[in-house]
Amino acid sequence: MRAEFPDFRLGKVLATSFTGTLSERHGNAVERIPTPQRLIDWLAVNGLAVDSCTTAQLELARELRESIHAAATAAAVHDALPAAAVQVINDCSAQGRAAAILTPEGQRRWQLSSASRVEDALSVIAADAISIIAGERDGKLALCASATCQAAFFDTSQSRTRKWCDMNTCGNRQKKARFNANQSKNSISAD
Ligand SMILES: [Zn+2]
Repeated sequence: MRAEFPDFRLGKVLATSFTGTLSERHGNAVERIPTPQRLIDWLAVNGLAVDSCTTAQLELARELRESIHAAATAAAVHDALPAAAVQVINDCSAQGRAAAILTPEGQRRWQLSSASRVEDALSVIAADAISIIAGERDGKLALCASATCQAAFFDTSQSRTRKWCDMNTCGNRQKKARFNANQSKNSISAD
C-alpha cells in the first residue's frame, strides 16, 4: 500500500528537506506526507522517530512546513519576513522538548521527551529553519530556478551559484528540456 505514496526528496538540510515534502508548489503540487503514517516515516528517516501521529499533529506539521517555506522564500529574496509564519515557527520551536545527545561514536542524536510527541520533532525542524533563515549557518537561501517549483533551498556550494533545489529532479528536468529543445532544433535544420 505504502508504495502508492510519492517518495521523499531527502536533502542534507533538515528544514528544507521538510519543506520539500510538498513539491511543485507552482505546478501540479505533490504532497509527500499525505497521511500521518507518511509523516512518521519521514521523521524516522530524519532521525526524529515517533510512535504515533494524529491528524491534528499532521496538520500542525504542515502548518509549520508552509510557514518555513514562506519565511525562507522571503529571506531568499530579501523581503520582510511574514509575521504569521514567524509566529508559527517560533511557537513550534518553543513548544518542543527535544535534547541533542552526543553518542559515544561522536554523532548527534535527537532525544524526544516522549515517542508520541510529534511536537518535539517539529521543534527540532523549526530550530533548524531559524538557524538558516537567521543566517547562522554557512550557506545562502535561494529559490529553485524551475518555474513550477521555486522551492527555497539552502545553497552550501563553494560558489553559492546552485540553481535548483535538487539536481536529481528539478535540475535533471531542466537539462532534459534543454536537450529536447536542442534535438528538435537539430531535426528542423536537418529537414
Ligand atoms: Zn526545485
